[in-house]
Amino acid sequence: MADFPTTARVVIIGGGAVGASSLYHLAKAGWTDCVLLEKNELTAGSTWHAAGNVPTFSSSWSIMNMQRYSAQLYRGLGEAVDYPMNYHVTGSVRLGHSRERLQEFKRVVGMGRYQGMDLNILGPDEVRSRYPFLETHDLAGALYDPYDGDIDPAQLTQALAKGARQMGARIERFCPATGVRREGDEWVVETPKGEIRCEIVVNAAGYYAREVAKMFGRDLPMMVMSHQYLLFDTIPELESWSKGVGHKLPLLRDVDSSYYLRQEKYGFNLGPYENPCRAHWATPDDPMPEDFSFQLFPDDLERLEWHINDAMARVPLLGQANLTKVINGPIPYTPDGNPLIGPMPGVPNAFEACVFTFGICQAGGAGKVLAEWVTEGATEWDMWSCDPRRFTGFEDPQYCVEKGMEVYGHEYAIHFPHHVWPVGRGKKLSAVHDRTAALGAQFGPYNGWERALWYARPGDDVSEDAQRTWEREGPWFGAVREECLAVRDACGILDLPGFSRFMLTGDGAADWLSRQITGRLPSVGRLGLAYFADEKGRIVTEMSVARMGEAQFLLITAATAQLHDKEWLLRHLAPGLSLVDATEGWSCQILTGPKSREVLAACSDADLGRGWLTFQTARIAGAEVYLFRVSFAGELGWEIHSRVADTARVWDAVMAAGGPVGLRPFGMFALNSLRVEKGYRAWKGDLSTDYTLLQGGLERFVDWSKPEFRGKAALEAEKQRGVTKRFVTLTVEAGECDPPYMSTLWHEGQVVGETTSGYFGHRVGKVVALGMLRAELAVPGTVVEVEVFGERCRAVVCEDAPLWDAKNERLRA
Ligand SMILES: Cc1cc2nc3c(=O)[nH]c(=O)nc-3n(C[C@H](O)[C@H](O)[C@H](O)COP(=O)(O)OP(=O)(O)OC[C@H]3O[C@@H](n4cnc5c(N)ncnc54)[C@H](O)[C@@H]3O)c2cc1C
Repeated sequence: MADFPTTARVVIIGGGAVGASSLYHLAKAGWTDCVLLEKNELTAGSTWHAAGNVPTFSSSWSIMNMQRYSAQLYRGLGEAVDYPMNYHVTGSVRLGHSRERLQEFKRVVGMGRYQGMDLNILGPDEVRSRYPFLETHDLAGALYDPYDGDIDPAQLTQALAKGARQMGARIERFCPATGVRREGDEWVVETPKGEIRCEIVVNAAGYYAREVAKMFGRDLPMMVMSHQYLLFDTIPELESWSKGVGHKLPLLRDVDSSYYLRQEKYGFNLGPYENPCRAHWATPDDPMPEDFSFQLFPDDLERLEWHINDAMARVPLLGQANLTKVINGPIPYTPDGNPLIGPMPGVPNAFEACVFTFGICQAGGAGKVLAEWVTEGATEWDMWSCDPRRFTGFEDPQYCVEKGMEVYGHEYAIHFPHHVWPVGRGKKLSAVHDRTAALGAQFGPYNGWERALWYARPGDDVSEDAQRTWEREGPWFGAVREECLAVRDACGILDLPGFSRFMLTGDGAADWLSRQITGRLPSVGRLGLAYFADEKGRIVTEMSVARMGEAQFLLITAATAQLHDKEWLLRHLAPGLSLVDATEGWSCQILTGPKSREVLAACSDADLGRGWLTFQTARIAGAEVYLFRVSFAGELGWEIHSRVADTARVWDAVMAAGGPVGLRPFGMFALNSLRVEKGYRAWKGDLSTDYTLLQGGLERFVDWSKPEFRGKAALEAEKQRGVTKRFVTLTVEAGECDPPYMSTLWHEGQVVGETTSGYFGHRVGKVVALGMLRAELAVPGTVVEVEVFGERCRAVVCEDAPLWDAKNERLRA
């Protein structure tokens, strides 16, 4: 024990692929005074039995980034650390059975190209030339990923561990973390071998992450599935083919049938994501064992029968092979299937890198991201998709189990833009949920809050099946159009429960807030949009700030940003200031359209002459409400903020007053259409840490005259250097589909930017895209092309003003 480290800068708990990669990347960043604790032998968790597939494919930009990085890292890792590994880059074919699937592939090809990868689409005949044993008669095509392959997960982990050790980091095996405690600014990590005093702790405990999180008082949103793959014996025909051509078959994924099939030596490895599937350790009669190191669940082949038969029909060669082994291991899931990488919510100097469902292909990228969080407090790529703060605490164990099973059972499903997954719904309901439901609202969850997406009219198809399309004109299209036109011509009301809201008070609040935001604070009685930048000048978040008093501010932000923004504010809060999360007590409706003044005049005592960006208290149906003179829809309008207890009667009164002028409820789809026409950005789409404020076209929200605000130096330097890409609004001559997030922009045969939003604008009658374009091209009138599912569509850069109501006259009316 004499050698046991008693201090370290960082302690990582968990020695799977992810923990080892985190240690490696911390050491690479120069943080070598780090210790990894593994309660058993390295790889004892999920890593030892993983199949080791290393795809780059993802329809998420950030996940693709991580996986691409991993594949690149793994190629050179063996040599870099002198630990040879079995890493076969075989390429893969991903089969498509439908037009929609090929559209998904084409979109990913576009994203991949932008990340420097050469993925491509194959016709059914070309697939056969890559994969001769394949039945292709019913295929629409395939995606070929030349970077895909498989790696030995244990060797990968050992290589990362070796590399980390070579740089000076330490690994303590057979040394569980049994507890943690905070002493002053330090953590003390308790183990049977002794205590380690450290600055920072990382939870990389895989499927034990919830247990480790409990040591920090955190209830971590996750569950555990059982996942199997089947190993088949040598097939002589495959052996002679493989020897003849000198390589393995590419990895095959039949995503519409939900399995992968990989050549393993001269046999096969078949791995299905079945539905129905099986959760483990989710009920009192199936408790999680204290230790499951290097263990497996009993085989359960019955539930895979369909997939085995389907795979044999697809690759008849498989029928010749004997099944030799089944691996059935635990695999952790968060409610959305993405891992947790980033700051541990509510806990200082603690981070998470856990709950990986694809932890082998993501370990490389995850280690990079985790190390950046720890050493720099921020990541190169926007990693909101994996940020622990995207879960806000409503995700109880049953919700986690149900969502985990839903994700697993649809692991390869296409994520359509208007589709809402049905499980785990109704967690948080608006006070007027019954009323909006009765009016035909079709709901979708936002941080658990059910909000109307659109209002179905009699006869509109509200089936889930009808949502599974990339096309713009789904069953909602006509209704959304009517909703938008009602907002344009008369008045609309959008019930918006769950806006996150924080009350900031205390002496010095104004000074402090001014240093947090890039722009000017509003004066008392007024409100404004405020942007928070990081040290690099990148966009962290956007909030509405209402100044209630000299030292009293109400900060309102997106529902999904609740925990993220709260943590950001609390992390920087000056001593003596108070920040209270008032989200639960209040609700909101957006009342907007040229007749909204008439509606409020008929039901409130408000002073309706007050201008844009003011607020006031008023009475509606006897209840005190706040009226904010703003509209994200870009028409005359007010946000009505009421206490939840009053919300229903306020709604009733407004609806009754609006009847005569044609007030109509509208939903989030309509709001999306209305806001893109105004060039209003959405958080974590258009506004993310992938862009600086200057790139985001937000300089009018930067007050250069302020002596100090976070990010000022970086923004000044960027301004001096010249901004390289700029936010633009484009009108697009798109076909049947709107450009999805991260569609590439082309100019003279080169990729010159990307879209961050795309939707049909019903007031302007055009497809509108928001995006980022090389600065020299960001000139009104420039013609570019947007690649929409593989098709290049003509697009024109608009004036640097809203497409609808360029001078904001309707807004200020
Ligand atoms: C059958 C199967 C096939 C799979 N195939 C693939 C695949 O092909 N590709 C892919 O990308 N992913 C695959 N996966 C998923 C992959 O296995 C996991 O995502 C990955 O191994 C997670 O790595 P990790 O480091 O996060 O967790 P783990 O490997 O589970 O490591 C966590 C470690 O923490 C240790 N630990 C826990 N508590 C403590 C404590 N208190 N103190 C100290 N140490 C502790 C554990 O012993 C464990 O070693 C598969 C999973 C299964 C079940």
